[in-house]
This record gives sequence, structure tokens and C-alpha cells, in this order.
Amino acid sequence: MKKVVKFGGSSLASAKQFKKAKDIITEDETRRYVVPSAPGKRDSKDVKVTDMLYAAYEKADAGEDFGEELDKIKERFSGIANGLGINIDLDGEFRKIKEDFTNKAGVDYAASRGEYLNGRIMAEYTGFSFIDPAKVIFFREDGSFDSERTNNTLGSVLDGLENAVIPGFYGALPDGSVKTFSRGGSDITGSIVARAVKADVYENWTDVSGFSVADPRIITDPETIDMITYTELRELAYMGASVLHEDAIFPVRREGIPINIRNTNKPEDKGSWIVQSTGVKPKFTITGIAGKKGFCSVNIEKDKMNSEVGFGRKVLQAFEDNDISFEHMPSGIDTMTIIVHQDEFIEKEQSVVSEINRLTHPDSIDIESDLALIAVVGRGMKSSKGTSGRIFSALAHANVNVKMIDQGSSELNIIIGVKNEDFENAIRAIYNIFVLARL
Ligand code: ASP
Repeated sequence: MKKVVKFGGSSLASAKQFKKAKDIITEDETRRYVVPSAPGKRDSKDVKVTDMLYAAYEKADAGEDFGEELDKIKERFSGIANGLGINIDLDGEFRKIKEDFTNKAGVDYAASRGEYLNGRIMAEYTGFSFIDPAKVIFFREDGSFDSERTNNTLGSVLDGLENAVIPGFYGALPDGSVKTFSRGGSDITGSIVARAVKADVYENWTDVSGFSVADPRIITDPETIDMITYTELRELAYMGASVLHEDAIFPVRREGIPINIRNTNKPEDKGSWIVQSTGVKPKFTITGIAGKKGFCSVNIEKDKMNSEVGFGRKVLQAFEDNDISFEHMPSGIDTMTIIVHQDEFIEKEQSVVSEINRLTHPDSIDIESDLALIAVVGRGMKSSKGTSGRIFSALAHANVNVKMIDQGSSELNIIIGVKNEDFENAIRAIYNIFVLARL
């Protein structure tokens, strides 16, 4: 049994949090590979070290003095190191960082130092070997992640090590310079490491006890999802449910390694399991609800649209030519609707409309903005009748007007379009009917 454990920023924000993390690691000797984030917020008013590094580097890049900013960052790390009573040469590390900032080593290099230093501290504190990701995680010249080269190198390096700490968030370009993943990318590193060592489990330790059925900012104390498939999670993550970085699923998914989301502050909670497939019935008919505001619908009408070959292609062409990707495309006999992100669309609106006119000569084009999309996701919907019926009667009772419905052919999700102002009410109505009333 082999586990990879990734700790998020709030799990490593202070010496106190580091102690909890170490207890978790040492409690189970199969927790052999540790992926730390940079120190996150200690309380809601605090600043993440990664953000402090970005701010300091901005000054360095502009040729301004960044000494004060760097000192504050150093204080964060010395607070942790002193609190843990470990010996680490922070003066030397920060001398080097200062020099590299002055020589404009790059914004990615700057941002990566939070993970790098937390990794150094973690390795010292646990006695595990330290592996610099710049030597084992590779990006191509064009900035894309080189998964196979990374997997081979990382796999063989870690194969020879009983335990190791591999900082999250970064790797290197072919010329050896540091490159980071997008924000929150330590989750991706954890997944890459889990794949490389063929782990049995990828544990992702954070500050919540797993995924919630719905956004806790809308539903007070929502139920936790015990088990969710990669596909369900992808649907929910795409629609705004965040806990894990969207791209963190891919490396482990290839190998069918389950991810267990756990709470560093409540290690006794079982958390959520993300698995490839499962016969375990979900607690409720639906697994989760997520959604986003800020969409626009472009409704196109033309008599006999249904018999005009190539109509849909021409409409989509207008969006493609303007470099706009579309989200959904419900259609009727003589109508077709394209749902797009409002902020992306608005600035190119007139150019898209005139191209649709030119290519398809429709009877009318009508644009509606300020729409929200809600995804109701669940593997359990396939085998239960009347799910959509229940959703729509709940929405009707809540006085929510449904603007659009789109059910994927996999029967895994139903997407509902409502006005932005109905968004929260709609989510509450759906949550109530499935989770509280357990229908
Ligand atoms: N420290 C980085 C960030 O704040 C990466 C991470 O925490 O996953 O985005």
C-alpha cells in the first residue's frame, strides 16, 4: 500500500498546522510521498505567501525596491521553522531569492518559492528526502505539461526512495527555468506524483471535509458527498464547484487511482472519495448541484430551419470566427439557441450577429443576457424515474422561471438556465427537494 498525501496552503499556514500535517503523515506509514503547497492564510484577513511573492516580484520586475516585501515573506517562514524547532538556512535561501529576483528570474520562479521553501521545511521536519520538482516535472517549449517524460523520470527517481517530499505547483521548461501550473496547481502535482509512484490512494488534505452537495455560501451546512466519480466531479467542477483544481483529475484518472479529499483540521472525518466508477449507490438521487452566473443566450429563428442543411454549422462558424466557445446549444424546429459566457461575448456581440446574418439570413436574432446555468449532476439519475419532473416542479413552487433545459445523453446531468437573480433560489429549491425531502 502506497499513499501520496498533498497538503493545501491552509494546512501548512503555520507551525501549528504543520504539526497536524506531520501527525497525519506519521500515523500511517503508507503515507510515503508528501506534496506541500505554499503557506496559505492563517485567518480570513491573512495573505497567502504565493500572493506575497507575486507582489514582491512585481516590484523587482519594475526595478523598485522589494526588500520590505521579501522580509515579510521571510518572517512567515521563520515563524514556521522556529515554531517547529527545525534548523534550516533561511538566510541563505533568502539571499539567493533576493539575488534571483534582482536578476529577474521570472514571475513563475518567484511564485514557486513558496512551495519550494515549504518543501524544504517539510523534508527537514519529517526526515524525508527533498526532491526539487524543477528536476523531475517537465513542461515543453510551448508551456504545455510533458506528462510522459515527467512520469518516466519522476517514477524512476521516486522508485528508489522510501519517502520523499515533492513541492507542488511547479516544474521546469526545457531550458531549466521554472514554470508553474495555474493557481491552485499543487493539486495537479499531487496527482502527477500519485500516477508516477502507482499509488493506491491520492489523499488531498485541505480545510473542508470533502465536497459539498451544494455551495455552502448558498446552502447552510450542506451534506458532504461520500463518493463521486471523476466524470461527475468534472461536470460539477466545470460549473464552479471548487475544492480541487480542475486538471488534477487527469493524471490519476488514467490509472484509476482514487482521490480522497480530507480535512487536516478534522482528520477523523472520512472526507469524499473520487473514483473511476462505483456500484455504491449515492446517498441521494443527485450527487451534487453547481452553477455559475454570467451567461448570454443568442436565440436565432428562421422558418424551416430544420430542413436547411448546414444551418447549424454556419451559426457556429460565426462564433468560431470570433474566437468564442459556446457552452450549450438547445434547439427547436425553427429555433436554435447558443449559450455563451457573457463577458467573452459582449465585446464581440455585433460582429457575431452580423456574421450570423450574413451566413444564414435568419428571421430574427434575439439576445438575452444575465442568465445563470445550474448543473444537477448524479449517476443515480440514470436509474431513477421522474428526476427532471421533480426538479421542475420544485422550481415552479419556488417561482423560478426556467429559461433553458439541456439533458446530456449520458443522463448524468441536467443543465438548467435561469435568470441570474433566480440563481440562489433555484439551487435551494433543488437541494431541498432531493436532499432535505429525500425524494
Ligand atoms: N500556492 C499556489 C497558489 O496559491 C498553488 C497551490 O496552492 O496549489 O495558487
